[in-house]
Amino acid sequence: MSKETRTATWKETFALHGRCFKDIYSYCPQKFWASGLYALVAALSPYVTVYLSARIINELAHHRRPEILMKWVLLTLVLEAVIGLLKAVATRWICAVNTIYNPKKERIYLNKFFDMDYADVDNQEVRDLRSQIRQSEGWFGWGINMALSDMQSVLHYGFGVIGAIALTVSMFTMMVPETQSNFLWLNHPLTVIGFVVALVLLVGITPVLAARNESLYVKIAEFARFGNRVFSHFGYIAHDTERAMDLRMYNQMDMATYYLKKCDSFGVGSYSAKLNAGEEGIRNGVMAGSISLITGVVYAFVGLKAWAGAFGVGSVTQYVSAITSLTANASELLKALGSMKTNTTFLRTIYELLDIPNNMYQGSLTTEKRADRQYEVEFRDVSFKYPGSEAWALRHVNMKFKVGSRLAVVGENGSGKTTFIKLLCRLYDPQEGQILLNGIDIRKYNYRDYMDIFSVVFQDFQLLSQPLGANVAGSATYDKERVLKALEDAGFGERLAELEDGLDTMLYKDFDKKGVDVSGGEAQKIAIARALYKNAPFIILDEPTAALDPIAEAEIYSKFNDIAGDKTAIYISHRLSSCKFCDEIAVFHEGQVVQQGSHEDLVVNAEGKYHELWNAQAQYYV
Ligand code: ADP
Repeated sequence: MSKETRTATWKETFALHGRCFKDIYSYCPQKFWASGLYALVAALSPYVTVYLSARIINELAHHRRPEILMKWVLLTLVLEAVIGLLKAVATRWICAVNTIYNPKKERIYLNKFFDMDYADVDNQEVRDLRSQIRQSEGWFGWGINMALSDMQSVLHYGFGVIGAIALTVSMFTMMVPETQSNFLWLNHPLTVIGFVVALVLLVGITPVLAARNESLYVKIAEFARFGNRVFSHFGYIAHDTERAMDLRMYNQMDMATYYLKKCDSFGVGSYSAKLNAGEEGIRNGVMAGSISLITGVVYAFVGLKAWAGAFGVGSVTQYVSAITSLTANASELLKALGSMKTNTTFLRTIYELLDIPNNMYQGSLTTEKRADRQYEVEFRDVSFKYPGSEAWALRHVNMKFKVGSRLAVVGENGSGKTTFIKLLCRLYDPQEGQILLNGIDIRKYNYRDYMDIFSVVFQDFQLLSQPLGANVAGSATYDKERVLKALEDAGFGERLAELEDGLDTMLYKDFDKKGVDVSGGEAQKIAIARALYKNAPFIILDEPTAALDPIAEAEIYSKFNDIAGDKTAIYISHRLSSCKFCDEIAVFHEGQVVQQGSHEDLVVNAEGKYHELWNAQAQYYV
């Protein structure tokens, strides 16, 4: 049975909700206090009215003393004003908190993904968990939001039950006078027990049936989520500018409409509608009927006691209101508890994601901040397979390089070049062999510290829809002069001079209609400037120029060589001409370093892979 469809126990329900509240509390404590205050005021305020109006009616029906009446009326006015004010404060507080709550809640997932081992971020199953969580939240609010709204309901109806009991107790203690011999049975303990049992049974029906109805949600969860996923893809496909041309060219709207019709999750005739038909309607009817029956039983009991003289007419209104709210609140309380139980299956998925452990060893050594920037990196017999893959992506790789040198990593697509960089940056750990920095295994260094010595411009680098300067610096506040120099060095100077808002120019139009859509080549220059601004001793270009033609790439690479100065620069390319100038060229083939040396040495070896690739590509450079 899948984790989600296995029914939750009460123990698991309370344990997971406890964790969830603790987590939310640490991100947004205001949400708890605001919800608590609102639930308290909303639950207790009706009883104040019920209690005080009963006092006024009793006084009017019996003694009619003006000074006492005045006292009750004044008290009513004052308390109603205070409650109204408290309600307004709580409502406003909740509204204000709700505006900050969502981004705070999302930080739970953001932080998890940021801290997770990269191997897990890159794992399809992990990404699928995240999207399941998002979809479940999307189609009915299941997960953290439901836990919070259930908590608010439990508080609200829990306070409601307590308030109602407080107003009801005296109904049982006020006895029918001995003179009313025909009604004395109303005082008998068995009558009281019978009345309470009838109420409990009638109240109990509702949550049991409601829980049955809710359990259908678990049954349709996977289907509904899939429908949501289809909708969130095809429902917005026409808004996506990158798809607009293909959409027209291949008339893809027909396909979108087809899928949207097919995956109607909740409409007439849908899977969920069929599941819900009949049974659910009958249950809803029985629940409504039980509420009417409760009202009837309560009126009969309270009316008879008043008729027999146990209390006055004012108290009738108090007891009838109190008991009907007691039953309504108790039923809603049980319903909320039932919903918590259903929601537990969805919280399970959330904690499956949040509990993914970090398996990579985290060392504590700091990387030496050497003034001479003398770093030496060594790959010692390194072999690596991607998680879940049987094939070695790298096999027995041995290599050494020093700061200040220029290393080129060349080879055909799929030969292991990017994997080599991913291991160097410790995005993954090798299964065999060691990578050493100044003679020490890189696993022993503090990870953040170690990351500080690298700047990588990845093939699929991403810029943010943020101002240009902030993009380069990776922060909203930055050293303007250094950002300008980095952009100038990266070759973005001329374009920058044309931008009216300079470093404050917003990139892309997601957040600002004046935003600038930079071309692929311009984006590369910004990405390179970002790597330069970081000023790390190692700077790596992993084919960020793949979209350019070979000659343009070679130009950028050799120009970059001047900019790199005393840093170690590692260039990756499947085009040999781009890396010809490097002191040292490592040729990768099927996960192994098959040759190493300068261009001049390698190109003359007619047996070597380099010679073969060089000749195969030569036609492009003529
Ligand atoms: P290159 O950068 O030389 O094009 P890569 O280092 O990207 O090559 O890939 C080396 C090998 O590892 C290829 O066979 C590729 O299919 C495989 N590979 C790359 N990334 C992954 C991944 N995330 N999961 C499984 N296999 C991968």
